[in-house]
Amino acid sequence: MKMSKLFVQTLREFPSDAEVVSHKMLARAGYIRKLTSGVYNFLPLMWRVLKKVENIVRDEMDKAGAQELLMPFVQPKELWVESGRWEAYGKELMRLKDRHNREMCLGPTHEEIITSIARDVLKSYKQLPTNLYQIQSKFRDEVRPRFGLLRGREFIMKDAYSFATSQEELEAEYQNMWQAYTNIFNRCGLETKAVQSDSGAIGGSVSHEFMIITDTDAGENDVFYCEDCDYAANSNHAVSNLPEALVDGGKYFNECKIIDTPNTHSIDELSAFLNIPSTLILKSLVYIVDKNPVLALIRADKTVEETKLMNAVGGMDIRIATSAEIEELMQNNGFNAVPGFIGPKGLKAVTVVADNTVKDMKNFVVGINETDKHMVGANLTDLGLDEIKYFDLRLVEEGEFCPECGKPLKVTRGIEVGNIFQLGTKYSKPMNAVYLDADGKAKPYIMGCYGIGISRTAAAAVEAHHDDWGIKWPLSIAPYHVIVVPVSTKDEQQMSVATKMYEELLASGVEAVIDDRDERPGVKFKDADLIGFPYRITVGKTITEGNVEFVTRATGEKVAMKPEEAVKIVVDAVKNIK
Ligand code: ATP
Ligand code: MG
Repeated sequence: MKMSKLFVQTLREFPSDAEVVSHKMLARAGYIRKLTSGVYNFLPLMWRVLKKVENIVRDEMDKAGAQELLMPFVQPKELWVESGRWEAYGKELMRLKDRHNREMCLGPTHEEIITSIARDVLKSYKQLPTNLYQIQSKFRDEVRPRFGLLRGREFIMKDAYSFATSQEELEAEYQNMWQAYTNIFNRCGLETKAVQSDSGAIGGSVSHEFMIITDTDAGENDVFYCEDCDYAANSNHAVSNLPEALVDGGKYFNECKIIDTPNTHSIDELSAFLNIPSTLILKSLVYIVDKNPVLALIRADKTVEETKLMNAVGGMDIRIATSAEIEELMQNNGFNAVPGFIGPKGLKAVTVVADNTVKDMKNFVVGINETDKHMVGANLTDLGLDEIKYFDLRLVEEGEFCPECGKPLKVTRGIEVGNIFQLGTKYSKPMNAVYLDADGKAKPYIMGCYGIGISRTAAAAVEAHHDDWGIKWPLSIAPYHVIVVPVSTKDEQQMSVATKMYEELLASGVEAVIDDRDERPGVKFKDADLIGFPYRITVGKTITEGNVEFVTRATGEKVAMKPEEAVKIVVDAVKNIK
């Protein structure tokens, strides 16, 4: 490809809405153009990268025994009603109507469709286990599309679904996919960590996310991990053991009574006023889960993890209540306390759940729904909470102890590029998707599902591999392998050596670009660095001594060598791409 013909326009500035490196660089280097919020055109350079990621994914999925198919992007409502997700999925599901007023949606994921195919085709245990996948555009009307391709509304995903006759068979396929994912990300030049995670809207019990660890804003997930054992989990799923703490306030309060605590709106103010550690305070937090108020109780030195709370009460959507909503809750219960003095006693028409930290608390301090007052020396019986349900609602903190080996946990941030789930019968049961087993009985499939964000993986590769000047693509997914740059297109010798090398590279199966533009060398080098060619061969003045300059983008290393040596290095490197 001639640079003068390459369909690319590099920009001088980063787009103003770009917050993270991959979005900035892919836009500036001419890979993507935004069409509308969360929706991007993949221009030729980007499409080359995406096809390479896709082909690695395809190759490893095929090797792992999965079979590719392609399902429609538009899906009928009826199947979503069968699975129960038409109601449950929430606003991310983009719903629409056709001219006959039939309701449809744009596929955010394809469990319903694949399950309907399976129940028509996979009728006997002899056809199982099996794994089917596709690579396709998905649409999710994300609340906050951002970070370019990392969180778009339309994006490309590989989604696979397995059907088995037993939990053991499912677990074997789960391991098989785990290995395939490890191979895929390795081949893409990406280091990933598999972490335990919450299963979210897809459902099921066991699931792992494949994370690219990063210390940048692009890492939307907090990952807690142990350096001494394998434990690693997304913060929405992580658990920990706590150090000993004072949880019995008996030495401060010898009876249960209500006292004045003026202006103690926060936990800090309250513990300072009473001169007690916050481990003796029961914190009461009001959330809105799917429009209903929920009161969450937790030891006051700890924080509620919203996904855990949402799962505990079986919701799809959660947020902390506003002051107005708290006031309304107070009024509905005949109180008029302001936030800071809320507590569970006497509250009706609200779901109350407690974190496990509450179990051991005795003679504690708690809000009593009266402004400027608290109850001290309280126990759960004083609050009428003998029957309260306990859950793990707590957000883990760095330094708390590993649930598996007891060593202190560390925290880092990660970009989720892939996800594997053990679904069980979550879809097959409600959709009555069954096969005939060897014993002649009809049984629901035991399912798994496995996703990889193709476009997110490509963007994550930029997050993982760049410098101030631009992208440093891993060779396996670079749009082109090498750029040959004659410093002066007017110099006959430079042009003829460059052209010869370029032609030899092409003839050996290397994806090469020659920068034939009549531009200053500085401009050519800048563009080459920004676009991120893994290798650059510069043909300049030293060609009179028989040398070209060979630059490796990943390391910045520059070496003078003969043209044929430079060609050989690139040809060999390309041959060695796995
Ligand atoms: P997230 O928690 O980041 O929203 P998810 O749990 O909703 O992800 P899955 O439903 O498991 O994601 O989808 C499988 C894969 O698709 C993810 O691992 C991710 O790589 C990709 N993906 C999901 N949502 C998006 C998006 N909005 N933009 C780009 N890729 C996405
Ligand atoms: Mg999501």
